[in-house]
Amino acid sequence: MVVEIISVGTEILMGNIVNTNAQYLAKKLAHLGLDCHFQTVVGDNPERIKSALDVAYSRADAVIMTGGLGPTKDDLTKEMLMKYFGKTPVVDEKVLSFLEEHVKKRGFEKLSDGMRKQAIVPADSIILYNHNGTAPGCIMERDGKICILLPGPPHEMKPMFEECCKVYLNGKSDKVFVSVIIKCLSKDEAPITMVGEAPIADRLDELTDGVNPTVATYAKQDGCLVRITASAKNHSDAMRLLTPVVNECRKRIGKGYISYIEEDIN
Ligand code: ATP
Repeated sequence: MVVEIISVGTEILMGNIVNTNAQYLAKKLAHLGLDCHFQTVVGDNPERIKSALDVAYSRADAVIMTGGLGPTKDDLTKEMLMKYFGKTPVVDEKVLSFLEEHVKKRGFEKLSDGMRKQAIVPADSIILYNHNGTAPGCIMERDGKICILLPGPPHEMKPMFEECCKVYLNGKSDKVFVSVIIKCLSKDEAPITMVGEAPIADRLDELTDGVNPTVATYAKQDGCLVRITASAKNHSDAMRLLTPVVNECRKRIGKGYISYIEEDIN
């Protein structure tokens, strides 16, 4: 299954906040062995959200969206998505009574219209209750397309993902990704030129063109990292693919190679 991440929020688009939700979700998808080829940021604008969805579904089976679920007027992701998926809006009584309690505790008699709209959820969908805020998330499915809608605030989004979405997505994934990292640290006995990215990439040469495993170099402050990643149906198959390529990389890096860490990312 191929997944895309769409982060909704004019604040992100304007550079007022950093899109840590996308970073978090991208890592989680990799851990789950799900391909994610694109991430999009879109402002709180229904037409542009729709066009972001159209593009995403032309390339992916599932979209994870964060943001725009709250009580204010510009929070319109859920309304937009219900229309997009042809889902009937219904009141979730559990969310409604939670919201009524919530405002009562804060000294208000009645729910505002904005607060009430958070209790409107799509019919025939999985509702994700929010234990750290007020807006529920949801998972909608239609004609083989999936949309997971999560709240914007990271302290609400992360537990919701951990509690519900991980299990849901795990059932959709048929492979794992495993990476091995070779760390080329700057050390006295290693010629300094050996720890820059370019000389390492030169030595790895055609290995960096591999598809499975992939070999990629990253320039870090204390040297260069080489990440070798394989995907397979289980960890031991992935390690079988990785081992010869890791050995060849180590041989080619030669003296500049200092240490290697296995990173199991499933
Ligand atoms: P709320 O109920 O707070 O309105 P919401 O689901 O409507 O939640 P937004 O209004 O889009 O979410 O964002 C609320 C706050 O959550 C933002 O001000 C920001 O602090 C944080 N936030 C939203 N999206 C992201 C993101 N992609 N990465 C990091 N933080 C985010």
